[in-house]
Order: sequence, then C-alpha cells, then structure tokens
Amino acid sequence: MTILRIALPIPKRQLFDYSYQGPPPKLGVRVQVPFGPRTMIGLLWEIADSSQWPEDKLKAVIQVLDEQPVFNATQIKLCNWLATYYKHPLGDAIQTALPVALRKGGSNEPKIIHYWALTDKGQQTDISELSRAPKQQACLTQLKVAALEKSSANRDFGAATLKALLTKELVQSKEYTMADREPWTQQIQISDKPQANTQQALAISCIEASIGKFACFLLEGITGSGKTEVYLQAIESVLLRGQQVLILVPEIGLTPQTVFRFKHRFGIEVGVLHSALTDNERLQVWQQSAAGQLGLIIGTRSAIFTPMLNPGLLIVDEEHDASYKQQDGLRYHARDLAVMRAHTENIPLVLGTATPALETLNNALTGKYHHLHLPLRAGNAVVAKQQVFDIRQQPLEFGLAKGMLERIALHLKQGSQVMLFINRRGYAPALMCHTCGHVEQCHSCNKPFTLHKSLYKLQCHHCGAAKPIPKACNNCQSSEISSQGVGTEQLEQGLVEYFPDYASVRIDSDTTRGKNKLDTMLNKINNNEYQILIGTQILSKGHHFPNVTLVVIMDVDGALFSADYRAAEHLAQLITQLAGRAGRAEKPGEMWLQTHDPAHPLLQDLINNGYGHFARYALLERQQANLPPYTYQALFKAQALSARDAHEFLQQIADLFNHEAGLACLGPIPALMEKRQGQYRMQLLLQSQHRSSLQQAINRHINQIENLGLGHKVRWALDIDPQDFS
Ligand code: ADP
Ligand code: ZN
Ligand code: ZN
Repeated sequence: MTILRIALPIPKRQLFDYSYQGPPPKLGVRVQVPFGPRTMIGLLWEIADSSQWPEDKLKAVIQVLDEQPVFNATQIKLCNWLATYYKHPLGDAIQTALPVALRKGGSNEPKIIHYWALTDKGQQTDISELSRAPKQQACLTQLKVAALEKSSANRDFGAATLKALLTKELVQSKEYTMADREPWTQQIQISDKPQANTQQALAISCIEASIGKFACFLLEGITGSGKTEVYLQAIESVLLRGQQVLILVPEIGLTPQTVFRFKHRFGIEVGVLHSALTDNERLQVWQQSAAGQLGLIIGTRSAIFTPMLNPGLLIVDEEHDASYKQQDGLRYHARDLAVMRAHTENIPLVLGTATPALETLNNALTGKYHHLHLPLRAGNAVVAKQQVFDIRQQPLEFGLAKGMLERIALHLKQGSQVMLFINRRGYAPALMCHTCGHVEQCHSCNKPFTLHKSLYKLQCHHCGAAKPIPKACNNCQSSEISSQGVGTEQLEQGLVEYFPDYASVRIDSDTTRGKNKLDTMLNKINNNEYQILIGTQILSKGHHFPNVTLVVIMDVDGALFSADYRAAEHLAQLITQLAGRAGRAEKPGEMWLQTHDPAHPLLQDLINNGYGHFARYALLERQQANLPPYTYQALFKAQALSARDAHEFLQQIADLFNHEAGLACLGPIPALMEKRQGQYRMQLLLQSQHRSSLQQAINRHINQIENLGLGHKVRWALDIDPQDFS
C-alpha cells in the first residue's frame, strides 16, 4: 500500500495521509479524498510508505484527477516557500496559486480555443477606411498584429463590433487546439523601434548579459524616461531565444493599450491575466503558458503563479505599487515572490519604477540588486512644477483655500483641466491646529498621536501611550483643532456649486467599479468632456492626462503626520507619479500641495530635489528609527465584537513573544481604524533586527496561537512584512 500525503484546502498547517492502491501518481496531481462527511480536492504533495497513523484508520483516495501534475517543480517550490515564509497553511497557499477552474475539479485537458482572425479581405483592407467606426477600426488594428481569443475580443470591443466585421467579411471565426497552432517562435516579427539612447542601451545590455542566470535589476527612471522601451528591447532578446517572458503590472495599468504596445512590437499573441476573466479564460492562459505556447504573458498580482515551460525573464512594472501586496487571506507580496521565482528558475528579474519602494531602493543601494538609471526624458514628456501652499489661518471652503480656488478658476478659463487629489487611504488622522499648524505629539517618541474618535482618545502607535483629546491647541491655545481631511464627495459637491459652468467627475474605487468603466471615464477625460477631475490613488497609476495643467493635492499633512511610517513614502510616490502624468511639452502643468507645515523637511526635499533624493533621506530616517527595511516586522491583527476579546487574544500572543530575545513586541493597540463594521480591531506588532529570528520565533509559537481558546471568538490574521496598518 502507498501513503499519499495530500495538501487540502483548509486552514491547517499539515498534510493529510490517505491510502492508495496501485502505482503511485506523480507529485502535484489533484486527488479527490473523503474529509469528514464531505469530499475534497487536494494536491498530492508527498508519497510515503508509512504513516504515523495506524493503517486501518487511513481512508482511501477516491480518485486521482490528473495524469500530469497541475504544478511543475517551480510552483511546488513557490508554494512551499509561501507556506513557510508567510506562516500560512500549505493547502490554502496552493489554492491561492491554482486557477479557480482547477480548484473546482475541472479538467486540465486543453480545450479547443476559439479565435477571431482576419480574412484575406481583412488583411488587405486599409484601416483608415473604417475611421467612421472607431471600434471596428481599433479591433482591426489589433487583428492585423495577431489573432484574438474570442471571448476577450468580444469583451474589449463588444460583440456587436465583431458581428459587424464578420458581416463585412473582414474577420472569420477559427478554432485550434493548442497543439496544432503555429508556434509563436515562428510568428515573431519585430516592428520598428526607436534607437535606444545611451542609458537605455546600457540598461538593456546589462539585462541581456544576465539572460540564463539569476539577477535582480532595479530600473529607476522618471515617467517617460523610456523604461517600457528597455523592457521591450530586453524582451526581444529573450523571445528570440525561444524563451517566455512574464510581466506583472498593477491592476489599473492593464489596459488594452498597454497590451497592444507589446503585441504590436513582436507580432505575437499575448496572454493576458486580469480580474475580469472568467475561470475558463484564466485556465486557458495558464495552460498555454505551461505548455510553452505563449511567448508573452501580462497580468496583475496573481499572474506571478502562472507556470512557464521555458521561462526567460520576469518583469514587475511599477514595482512600488501597493496592489502587489495581497491584503487578505495569504498576504503575499508579488514582488517578493517574483524575486523568489526568478531565483528558483535561474532567470533575471527587472523591477521598474519612477519611485522605488524604500525596500527595493535599499536592496539596490547595498548592491543586492543591480541599479539601472534612466535620468533623461525620452519622447516629449514633462513634469509638473511642484510647490507648497500654506493654508495656516486661511479660511477653507470644502478643504480648499481661497487662493487655490482662484488658481483653479484661472486654469479652467484657459480651457485646461484641473485635478484635485484627496489622499486619505490608510492614513491615520493626527490632531492638528489650523491656526499655528501644531500637531499633538507623543513626548517619548516625538511622533504624532493618532486620533481615535470613537475611543475619545489620542494614542501613540509607537509606544502605546494614550491621553484624552485636548480641547485647545497646546501651542497657541486656539480651539481650531481638528483631524485632517475632507471626503471626495464633499469636495465634489462644493466644486459643482462653485464652478457651475464646468463638468466634474469623481474617480475613485466606488465610481470606477464595473466593466470598462474606468476606461470609458478616461476616454471622456481625454476628450475634454470633464474639466474638473476629483480622485484618489487611481489617478496616479499608468494614465496620462495631457490636458491637465493644474494638480492640487488637498491634504498633504495627513500623510506627513501619520502614525503609519510608510505614509510619507507613499505620499512622495503619489506626488511624483502625478507630476509625471499631467501636462505636456507645449502646456506644462503646475502642482500645488496644501499644507499647514510648508517648511517640513521631507516635503521640501521632495519638491526641491526629487524623489530619488527624498527616498535616500527617508531611508536614513528609517535606519535611525529602527524601521523596515532595516528591521523586519510581523503583524497580528485581530477583530471581534468585543474590544476586550480582541485585546485579550493579542495579549496572550504577546505573552508568548515577550520572552523572546532580540524581538520587540508592541501592543496590543487599536488599529488605526479601531472599529469597522461593528468589529473592534486590534494589532500586535513584532519586530526584529534579523529576519531569521523573527521567523523562528513565530515558528515556535504558531501552533499554540492557532489553538488559543479565544480563537473562536476572534477573527485573526498574521501579516508578514505588513504594508498596511489601517
Ligand atoms: P516609461 O515607460 O519610462 O514611462 P516609455 O518607454 O513609455 O517610458 O517612453 C516614453 C515615450 O518615449 C514613448 O512614446 C516612447 O516610444 C518614447 N521613447 C522611448 N525611448 C525612446 C528613444 N530611445 N528614442 C525615442 N523615443 C523613445
Ligand atoms: Zn510614543
Ligand atoms: Zn495652535
């Protein structure tokens, strides 16, 4: 009898033994097994000839679902690493990595794929003849490069568009099985490309020199400096060797235009993975990539799990982007996983950005990563001029100073667009005096207190000290003290009344939810249908706004005085990204930062010396404050209907770790947002100088934590390398 050790999709940190008759299947195949009263699908992880359980107690495998493993050796390694590093149950880690269609037990046999392809007539048609039907024209433009998978083409261009093209006999429906398609290696056709400038050429040759071995590159270059062109030319070398390339982009940056730029350069089909795909579409890309039948795969965070038969290069674009960190379930960071994967597969990894995360920058500065710079602008991009606007003692209307409103009016009159940016997400409210700009600080830590309105107190998130909310400013006695920030809705309403002649649009995660909504909105903006743009984070990602000549950041102070030590870094990234995306050569933009502290050193450094300088200074601050990337953190989060339960649960965990040498344990304290949806939220932060001590300490206690009695009253999670303290 053989013992199959199965990873099951349940939150238990163990494998489960089942008996099996017959020749052992391959590791990484799916098996169906009985579990309690139900059956489950798990993955065969180990094979053994004995079990710690008596043989007659073992249940038998019901059936083996695959002949060939659904995971290759790399993916098995990655899942093991995920489980070990993030202290996450293996079976659950595997679920995260596996396409939903396979989790549900669907067949892993490749299906027939349905395509739209051009007819001979379509091939010969001049695209400009279709200028009166822009959707058909756009679709035909794409089809000239490569055939399109049917359901995704229908989604991107609309089924009606394709029907119209079919009626005109410009397109035809085609089907292939994966095996009988012409390999992409024979389809590659490199279209015209610019001559790389000196810095680009240097970067490209460094990356090329690493093909076939592990290396990490930070490609640091301002927006429009030609990073994508560097990717394209490096990718070309890899593709021409017959090797595959996987590119990660932030969710919001994955537009049909982005994909087209890659497709167009190489003339091959591109596998696209994003959240709007159906389970079967996702599986199709996964299967084709695993079989080596796609040369290029572009996707968002979870695309990092896509198997490749013949991997050659990994790219993470906008590597600083927060969307690469999963914030629930298995809290992995796709950028860190990309490093692991490149190492495992022995291939180079390029991390590109205008605003590197401090972790990444530190790795580049210490020589762990190769640092490639693109200091010059390629093409005709411009950067908006950044200035501070002192709002102390100024009457504010819906968060805007009078002088700011006057500037907005001026730009609108000139026919330009203005953009107002609210920067709130995840930032802890500090208590600030509007008269003198004073911020209530903890005396032991010299860090701002965080305002917890529902607890009627101020609390320091660095030492835990708390005190009641004062009634007047401790510096000037003014009673005009308040937490920072106005909401987007309040701002929009105010602006609509103040500027009735101009159309405004709000762009945040609420208004852009839904199919193609953001795309439609962006098109309308670029057609000048809106003049006043109000938004959050989304605006800083991947989109250019050539008609915007004025950008106002409403509330810089919230981030400067936040208890979240990453807030200033994120603010600087956002300001820099926005400045690089507004205006154009003939019509450069200006950017104003409203603040109560115009002399703030980080702010001054950023606007005078740029992100690169700011980031090095911020790293120095982190080092002096003993914060990441110079220390390592793990965050226990707990929430419960009763604040006491959540607190007590974390206190029991704290008691386990308090005796550990070389480990600092802060808390339990309330989360920055202490109450959400009726649940009280508490946190306990562990920190160490050494990653390994932190890891080992958690290993020693995790089973005990899992079995704490209060665990059934409290929802808890462990976040390794936490990014978000809200
Ligand atoms: P980034 O990705 O850094 O924002 P891109 O690669 O998109 O920059 O380049 C910005 C613009 O400059 C694009 O229109 C691109 O085609 C153009 N460009 C890039 N490199 C060159 C070059 N070496 N010569 C001329 N134009 C270039
Ligand atoms: Zn303190
Ligand atoms: Zn004051």
